[in-house]
Amino acid sequence: MLRRPASSRIRDRTPARHNSGVNSPSYIGRFAPSPTGPLHQGSLAAAVASYLDARAAGGQWRVRMEDLDRPRCEPGAADIILQQLDDYGLHWDGDVLVQSQRDGAYAAALNTLQARGAVYPCACTRSQLADAPRNHEGEIIYPGTCRKGVPDGLLARAWRVRVPDVSTRFLDRIHGDVQQNLAREVGDFVVKRADGLFAYQLAVAVDDAFQGITHIVRGADLLWNTPRQIHLQMLLGLPTPTYAHVPLITNAAGQKLSKQTRAPALPAHRRGAELTQALAFLGHPPPAKLAGAEPAELLAWASAHWKIERVSTRPAVARFASATENALTPDP
Ligand code: GLU
Repeated sequence: MLRRPASSRIRDRTPARHNSGVNSPSYIGRFAPSPTGPLHQGSLAAAVASYLDARAAGGQWRVRMEDLDRPRCEPGAADIILQQLDDYGLHWDGDVLVQSQRDGAYAAALNTLQARGAVYPCACTRSQLADAPRNHEGEIIYPGTCRKGVPDGLLARAWRVRVPDVSTRFLDRIHGDVQQNLAREVGDFVVKRADGLFAYQLAVAVDDAFQGITHIVRGADLLWNTPRQIHLQMLLGLPTPTYAHVPLITNAAGQKLSKQTRAPALPAHRRGAELTQALAFLGHPPPAKLAGAEPAELLAWASAHWKIERVSTRPAVARFASATENALTPDP
């Protein structure tokens, strides 16, 4: 169970059963970090965008810890992330949902897919697929090797879902009409991995529905995952939330900020300045009179002024430390 930060001002304003459809508020948003390390400027911007979009709509904002890929998780990172959210004034509603405790729900979803004949076992290894074509994101487009049955003598340990050769579309609130032909651009994708772990795509579809999420606001690196999640929602009879993908923050070399690209963790001091910069990245530079303001004041201003139309589709380059003052808008 995740520890709640001691200083937390957590209020549980959620109804007892979010997926019951009873007393469902019209807006439930979420932030779903993977605890591979502490939050950095990029993940702060995603957290702030989803928080503000929810609060501006008078909605709930939930947190889900996506610790499904155990080997990639860093011990202690989940607690650090919750403490960082709390320190930055991003107080969530209800309990944190922890994916590593949800295997039963993912297994039930896989059973449903199996019963509907929507998935099949796959014995392909990474090295066997090394020469398969790749999409513009550099991902392998699965060539369908095991679609008609696992070749003799091979052991199938993964499960893949069949995808249709039609365009899957959705209207992103920032990017507009997004379309992807799953068969041509992704291929049948994995829902349970060869190492026994459930795949992110399945877990996210199951959990968004379980938590009653109506609006997803997250980083643009996940834009091309959305049609996969919509396909699973359709197969499992789950509702499709609305989506908005906020621009990524990159380092000077154009790489997404991440643990791999050595993004520095958010500082424990100058939180107001970091938040000011995140708001500027999101097209909402606070007025100069808020220079030096604390997170609570900045978030109150931003919730009152939030307009998702002001968020750009283009990535922003991170600035570290002293450049933050430039993020403020001069007072009229
Ligand atoms: N856990 C994912 C990440 O940290 C985000 C998943 C999501 O928002 O759907 O990149």
